[in-house]
Amino acid sequence: MDATLSDDEVRSTCPYCGVGCGTIVRTQGEGEARRVVEVRGDPQHPANFGRLCTKGATLAKTQRVELVRPGRLLSPMLRTARDAPRGRLAWDDALDHAATRFADCIAAHGPDSVAFYVSGQLLTEDYYVFNKLARAVAGTNNVDSNSRLCMSSAVAGYRRTLGADAPPACYEDIDLAGCLFFAGSNAAWAHPVLMRRVEDARRARPDLKLVVVDPRRTDTAELADLHLAILPGTDVALFHAMLHAMLWEGWVDRAYIDAHTEGFEALRAAVRDCTPAWAAEVCGVPVESILTAARWFATAGPTLSLYCQGLNQSSSGTAKNAALIGLHLATGQIGRPGAGPLSLTGQPNAMGGRETGTMANLLPGHRDPSNAADRDAVARHWGVDSLPAAPGLTAVELFEAVGAGRVRCVWIACTNPVQSLPDTEAVAAALARAEFVVLQEAYAGTATEPFADLLLPASTWPEKSGTVTNSERRVSRVRAALPAPGEARADWAIAADFALRLQVRRPAARGARFDWDGPGAVWDEWRGLTAGRDLDLSGLSWDVLERDGPQQWPYPAGASAGRARLYEDGRFPTADGRARFAAEPWRAVAEAPDARRPLRLLTGRTRDAWHGGSRTGLVPQLFAHDPEPSLQLAPAELERRGFVDGELVEVASRRGALTLPVRGSGTLRAGQAFVSMHWGPEWVSGGVNRLTLGALDPVSKQPELKHAAISVRRAALPYRLTAVGRVAPQHHAAAREALRACFGAAGHASCLPFGREESGWTLRLASDEPFGEALPQAVAAAFGRDPGTLLRYEDRRRGRLRWLAAEGGRLDFALVAGDGGEADEAEARRLQATVVEATPLRSLAALLGPAGAADTPRARTVCSCVGVTDRQILGFVARTGERRLDAVQAALSCGTGCGSCRIEVARLVAEAPVADTRTA
Ligand code: SF4
Repeated sequence: MDATLSDDEVRSTCPYCGVGCGTIVRTQGEGEARRVVEVRGDPQHPANFGRLCTKGATLAKTQRVELVRPGRLLSPMLRTARDAPRGRLAWDDALDHAATRFADCIAAHGPDSVAFYVSGQLLTEDYYVFNKLARAVAGTNNVDSNSRLCMSSAVAGYRRTLGADAPPACYEDIDLAGCLFFAGSNAAWAHPVLMRRVEDARRARPDLKLVVVDPRRTDTAELADLHLAILPGTDVALFHAMLHAMLWEGWVDRAYIDAHTEGFEALRAAVRDCTPAWAAEVCGVPVESILTAARWFATAGPTLSLYCQGLNQSSSGTAKNAALIGLHLATGQIGRPGAGPLSLTGQPNAMGGRETGTMANLLPGHRDPSNAADRDAVARHWGVDSLPAAPGLTAVELFEAVGAGRVRCVWIACTNPVQSLPDTEAVAAALARAEFVVLQEAYAGTATEPFADLLLPASTWPEKSGTVTNSERRVSRVRAALPAPGEARADWAIAADFALRLQVRRPAARGARFDWDGPGAVWDEWRGLTAGRDLDLSGLSWDVLERDGPQQWPYPAGASAGRARLYEDGRFPTADGRARFAAEPWRAVAEAPDARRPLRLLTGRTRDAWHGGSRTGLVPQLFAHDPEPSLQLAPAELERRGFVDGELVEVASRRGALTLPVRGSGTLRAGQAFVSMHWGPEWVSGGVNRLTLGALDPVSKQPELKHAAISVRRAALPYRLTAVGRVAPQHHAAAREALRACFGAAGHASCLPFGREESGWTLRLASDEPFGEALPQAVAAAFGRDPGTLLRYEDRRRGRLRWLAAEGGRLDFALVAGDGGEADEAEARRLQATVVEATPLRSLAALLGPAGAADTPRARTVCSCVGVTDRQILGFVARTGERRLDAVQAALSCGTGCGSCRIEVARLVAEAPVADTRTA
């Protein structure tokens, strides 16, 4: 027992991003009634020293029993025909059935007719068991992870240049660097706790240089001393031009290059023509900015690069990673304090999947399935004669193979491909064609669920026990704080029980053991595969983690601590110990804009959401910062196209179309558009990934999710229905399902939660046909409202409705429908703001009437922790003229919690208009 914790507390790790923050989880109650009542940052955890961002700080709210239980899968469910309803069945029967289906498929069509698609949110032990199941029992390399969508270019970049997939730097290097070089990373939103560390470093050393390379002016770019707003996909051109300038100026470290690397002359030749003037043209940034970036990178160091999906999610992601790492090798900015390339992992345990080799082109312990010696080593450890040699299918290829009928049975665990893969219409069509789909999942209602023949309920944070590895190679324990609800089971245990059953039906695959008595035993077997490897974990038992806390790898047997940074001796895990330069030329994005689709669509995260929202979607407060799916355009682009902020537009790519409200955003250049990656079909009809592109990087096979060519035109959907209302917490999940059922054939439909302590939903529908009588009634019923009890204004001839309900002196429910298009929309937004902001009501009747009332924009929450809106901040500055950030924070408390909003608060304070008091 940890003496610093009380009996009802356990240390664990945040289940969201790759920063890997330590948490302390406090629970109350007994047995099934036990619940999480508090999650706070662990002051002893070296990744966060007690800090959490908005997402981590609201983890306890994801555990509110009344919200969580109805949204969980609680027992195995099977359907025996595509259109039949699923029926409940026992675990034994479910796994027997699955084993029979997989075994029959393998017998008839071969091992590569089945596949496993898992997740960067699994624990390392889960990953390991799935990998062993796929390769040693099913006999296929068709096991891939959704980490393919976020990290595989980083993997390929490291392997190609440094010899192994090992991030060489660590978070402490942020404190020691002279130059921080962010490339394709909006860490302020995607890795907020690291950004707090960057802010600390700047306060401690005001001369620290911060360079941000990003097409958008993100919150991270806002902090930068130098922002290079390059055109999408031109990173390699920029990095090559920086190297060109470094060579010209004599800023490269010739001694380091000669002593520790190979291949520099080829790269030197490749960048000969990549002048800063050429790159300025290609990248769309000033020559001076390129020269300054090169100078700071090479001379203001030590230089630490922090990079993420902007480099990885690209059809040239490996080349981007390799070119950036090449800058570190050329300047000797690696293997010393404050220096090195440090890829930031998106998911909490993408690293665990890479380490255990649970991707089609990897084997455990940084081994390679195309290498016979590597296959033999793993086969011996697993007790089987051999492992399959045929290359496995990576994520996009895997679902293409399902669509083509080459993969017939697919097992999906802890991920939602119909939301997250590019070209989701094609993914949905593929799954509809599959012979047998197993979905192992904690949450009900994901976009993938309708395609599952067999649903298996999995446990999730905070019910699971195991380990995760964060971006700096630090292994942390995840500890169970609660029992799993219903019949939900740990992912590793489900995979192991299935493997045992599949072995019975596949006698040749009986050698491998799957009889572990817990995840600790899985960990011990796994770390045995790492002995002598670059990621040696052989000395890192769970006892060590218990005694000494989270540790970085390598941690070989006999070590007393992990290693903070790699390659300090200049030796790399290649055959000759030398790192390799890659000399890839710059290649344009796979899908260039053209006359039909003239805009570049960029995608990315929003601040408070996590992936598809299965978990963050349970906390309405986390939607307040970005309350509605939208397509962002530069204000000048909005004006040029004659769009009004908020109006509905149809966005179309070569793959599909969807309709969204359009918003002006000062973060973008003209010719660019942005949509948040989180808005799957669970939140907005169609989902954003029906637009995105599956073009693959040739090495990493990572798809180009960050860029597609699109067209945008005004949507001809004059009939609008908006309904907004509070619902009791115990009806939150049921209301969501009922409202989603109302999406029907509407041209645009979205359903989003709002609220802090209370919760409610906003449904928006737009159609080219009148909604009729039945739909408004169904919508009201979904909110638990009897239309007969509502205050109603109705213009039947024009199909206009205003239905309202008040409670406790405030508007509690409003439904607005009609053919007034934007006028109805304005009226709906006024009523929506009245409900959401719980404005005290003077007269309910005054809210009734025809459309056309002035739009009152709804305040947007900036600080989620305290609940402070943009209107409050702007109002305070306008009233007081106060522009000192600390004074505004002292008055309103915004940005005093997790700090994720601090950059935005500072911007609002700086930009707020102030009343001219001389004329007042
Ligand atoms: Fe969780 Fe936020 Fe820390 Fe990421 S930065 S691990 S989301 S608390």
